[in-house]
Amino acid sequence: MNPFRGGGHELDLGNGATEVLVEVLMLAVTALARDDWQHAFAAELARQDQNLMGRGMVGLDLDELDWGPDPERGRAFALAVVDLALTRHRWDELGYHASYAEADLQALRRLLTALHPTPGAPPDPTDSMAATCRHHRILTPLPWYPACVRCAGG
Ligand SMILES: [Zn+2]
Repeated sequence: MNPFRGGGHELDLGNGATEVLVEVLMLAVTALARDDWQHAFAAELARQDQNLMGRGMVGLDLDELDWGPDPERGRAFALAVVDLALTRHRWDELGYHASYAEADLQALRRLLTALHPTPGAPPDPTDSMAATCRHHRILTPLPWYPACVRCAGG
């Protein structure tokens, strides 16, 4: 199980559910990320790719996340990403039905609403994500890393 924690809530997802959740979040964050912190947040989501990190080896502690200099702005951005995913943004490009991800997205929304994000350091631009997979048009986890969440997973 891969734990996603925040604000005293926990969402434990199996490997398949994690894969779907990360894919729909990456499709959404790719559409919305503009500044350095938003790209750093996108990189954090992309690092939840089990093809990269190993199956059952991911998980996100949102209480520990660096929410940047304006944590409420960061939280608002994270909620906007979840809400865009809930509109099924680009789900037609997935080769499967992702509709069961909706309950997990709603649970993630509850985590984000419950947590108390603390101010972090300004993002290090070298740590933020600039590369986009040309094939899938999805941000990749690292500036130099060409594969996105859909490359290995299909
Ligand atoms: Zn790709």
